[in-house]
Amino acid sequence: MSNKTIECGREHVFDEPPWPFDDPINTGVVTTKNIMVHDFPVMEVLFDEEGDWQVLCGETQDPKDGVLVCLGCAYEKNPVIGQFANLEPGYEAYRETVDSDWVIDKIVWSDPE
Ligand SMILES: [Zn+2]
Repeated sequence: MSNKTIECGREHVFDEPPWPFDDPINTGVVTTKNIMVHDFPVMEVLFDEEGDWQVLCGETQDPKDGVLVCLGCAYEKNPVIGQFANLEPGYEAYRETVDSDWVIDKIVWSDPE
């Protein structure tokens, strides 16, 4: 499990309790400004070998577009990720389009070109 945490200081409001994750609310999650600020849909949820979460829009992998939020904020913004709370480390869920079914698969890391 990751020991990276973030105290965002917000009250979180969840539509669908109970909290679905084994990780605490203050677990740090890498996501993108597109998702948190511009309401882009989540297209990819990664739970890597280190137990770190990434919630991605699929539009950018540029670190300058990334933002670290707490898992509470990520889930509050995107309740869809709650269904992947039991992903095994090293696995990801992704969908081709917002209308596609989610696919769960082992993460394949590719080097940036
Ligand atoms: Zn938060």
